[in-house]
Amino acid sequence: MAYDYERDYAEAARDPDGFWRKVAQRIDWMQAPTQIRDVSFDAKDFRIRWYADGTLNATVSCLDRHLATRGDRTALIFEPDDPNGETQRIPYRELHARVCRLANALRNLGVAKGDRVTLYLPMIPDAAVAMLACARIGAIHSVVFGGFAPHSIADRIADCRSKLVITADEGLRGGKRIPLKANVDAALALPGTNSVETVLVVRHTGAAVPMQMPRDRWVDAVVEGQPDTCDPEPMNAEDPLFILYTSGSTGKPKGVLHTTGGYIVYASWTHERVFDLRDDDVFWCTADVGWVTGHSYVVYGPLANGATCVMFEGVPNYPDYSRFWNIVDKYQVTIFYTAPTAIRALMREGDAPVKATSRKSIRVLGTVGEPINPEAWRWYHDVVGDARCPITDTWWQTETGGTLIAPPLDRPQKPGSAMKPLPGILPAIVDGKGNVLEGETEGNLVLLDSWPGQMRTVYGDQKRFFETYFSTFPGKYFTGDGSHRDADGDYWITGRVDDVIIVSGHRIGSAEVESAFVSHPKVAEAAVVGFPHDIKGQGIYAYVTLMDGEAEDDALRAELIAHVRKEIGPIATPDHLQWAPGLPKTRSGKIMRRILRKIAEGAPEQLGDTSTLADPTVVESLVKHRRGQ
Ligand code: ATP
Ligand code: MG
Repeated sequence: MAYDYERDYAEAARDPDGFWRKVAQRIDWMQAPTQIRDVSFDAKDFRIRWYADGTLNATVSCLDRHLATRGDRTALIFEPDDPNGETQRIPYRELHARVCRLANALRNLGVAKGDRVTLYLPMIPDAAVAMLACARIGAIHSVVFGGFAPHSIADRIADCRSKLVITADEGLRGGKRIPLKANVDAALALPGTNSVETVLVVRHTGAAVPMQMPRDRWVDAVVEGQPDTCDPEPMNAEDPLFILYTSGSTGKPKGVLHTTGGYIVYASWTHERVFDLRDDDVFWCTADVGWVTGHSYVVYGPLANGATCVMFEGVPNYPDYSRFWNIVDKYQVTIFYTAPTAIRALMREGDAPVKATSRKSIRVLGTVGEPINPEAWRWYHDVVGDARCPITDTWWQTETGGTLIAPPLDRPQKPGSAMKPLPGILPAIVDGKGNVLEGETEGNLVLLDSWPGQMRTVYGDQKRFFETYFSTFPGKYFTGDGSHRDADGDYWITGRVDDVIIVSGHRIGSAEVESAFVSHPKVAEAAVVGFPHDIKGQGIYAYVTLMDGEAEDDALRAELIAHVRKEIGPIATPDHLQWAPGLPKTRSGKIMRRILRKIAEGAPEQLGDTSTLADPTVVESLVKHRRGQ
């Protein structure tokens, strides 16, 4: 183990400035910062600034500095959707050249420091190249997940007034073609998008797509003949690096803005620290670059650390449920990082597709995105990891830039707990009035102080930034999540506080009831929400997805309700149980409980913003089959 948690945490607590100064040295600066932190969460002198007199370009740390020592090392391994398709191994030297050529082309097209560029791309190396090419010249990228429909792309373009869009002819996922260029065309026909002057198109599947001249250009044509070096734009540490819209579980997505210095320091440091990264690791994070996990732990963190990182274009169940593990074996992946939604979906299919593969190369497993049910954790640990590998359950948000709470790997983990704040991170649990609660307790999760990777504003809306995160509990950053802290001081995220159900005055976290359901062998996934109840104030309404092949009948319904009652206690007895062949999720795989709440309340006409739903037909079917109350 490369570190000692207690020692490092104590060191950071003793001298935060000295600690973060040292952490920043892992990055290549043009002008090293002398100022470290300049932060106030108070309304009257609100500011969040890190390393504010430093100058750098993030791509120098991700590319240039590796050339002398590890230029031939593989930076990205590309695994295409089709298991028999052409894989790619891109060494740092080649990645650097590709980024520079595209950066030069962007400059030639008139893109300058501060301009916004929207990226709507599949999970292919060109996505990383495009992000880094923007960063090279100081343009602010906004990656929009390749699964979004035209109106969602248009909203995100309109919000930040992008000048240029980079897309591909088509994407491929699970053997299906996604008409990316056609979606961009449709988006740009919508109002609010007239800031876009140029659309660059990556030739990926080779499909014929209509090009609208002079707006549309092929990427291979514009990079042709460009030099493979490009002077990096000097950026102040506080100059913006990117905008990224949150996944929209709780409402309209927020345009989270991250700046250059603090973000790259934090992404790089946490990537090494949280996964106990070693020089010979092959790291694979399955997240799409359309989400923050893809930004911090597919692109910026791993590349800043000179690591080898797998990029996978496809989905876990294509061509079959062994796909992830076959890829692990193919590239001898040592660190594997995915989301509970994927783990639960794979668990539903049983152990055989996992057991058919070796997975011997895996050393560390990770999870992010939602609370992981202890049952899913155990399956991940025992079946995927053959009970050999530690699991790092990383709690963080788009807003935090990188992981804030994760289990130190120098001790046993607890299934379902993210455990400890990283050194330098100061979480607290507060009651409804903002009083800090000590010891073993439960309440609202806040951060008492800043960290370098903290978001700096909601793009174009500083007021919304302050109100969303700093007005609920003055002087503190409010995460929106609830947490329990046990007697050992370990944190257990209980879900979003909006999802807490208050039954006869008792606060019940959705995560706990859902985990009780999932602990039953016939249950694959569950979501619970509150609904108005005459006597209890709120009752518990459960949506349950069964394991593949199990029959939905009343005997099982009664058995499951009794099971939850036994696991948690009579107070948590579900009042209603509806079978759910599927649950409404965001495109990043998170359960959207606010939608389930409206269905349970019998108010499906008030679903609110559903633009980030992965599959709207799931909602229609749940509304149709809602149980009478
Ligand atoms: P929006 O803010 O638009 O509603 P979102 O919160 O789903 O969208 P993200 O930033 O992608 O957008 O997700 C962060 C949230 O995911 C956290 O606030 C938390 O609720 C949940 N989360 C992430 N990792 C974990 C984890 N390891 N354990 C529990 N919850 C997690
Ligand atoms: Mg959020």
